[in-house]
Amino acid sequence: MTATLPSDVDLLRSSGLRATSGRLAILVALDAAPHADAETLRRGLGAEAPSLQAVHNILADLHSAGIVRRFEPARSAARYERRVDDNHHHAVCSSCGKVVDVDCSIGEAPCLHGPTPPGFAVAEAEVIFWGVCDDCA
Ligand SMILES: [Zn+2]
Ligand SMILES: [Zn+2]
Repeated sequence: MTATLPSDVDLLRSSGLRATSGRLAILVALDAAPHADAETLRRGLGAEAPSLQAVHNILADLHSAGIVRRFEPARSAARYERRVDDNHHHAVCSSCGKVVDVDCSIGEAPCLHGPTPPGFAVAEAEVIFWGVCDDCA
């Protein structure tokens, strides 16, 4: 298994989670493969990988603790990443599914303001840019 930075242990503990080997492995895997889905992360862990269900459980714990961000492009499995400290967006290749970060010019949610319906408080504008990546163009 890959060496784990002590900061990941601290990060989990300060979020109220036990620093289990599975959670630490997923965090390391997400460092290497941002915007990966659960199956890709599991495959990246090789022979020591937990079951897919266990990976989903770990990701759900990390997500509810605010350690990972989750987003779900249309026609794709949910993707996960560790960049949680800003309100960035994503560009998704409609051909191969590759995801790249797009900085938000405002930086905090909600960065788009439309006419708000009465009785509704907007917290976030979920923006996904669709296009074709260089490899697929
Ligand atoms: Zn592509
Ligand atoms: Zn991202």
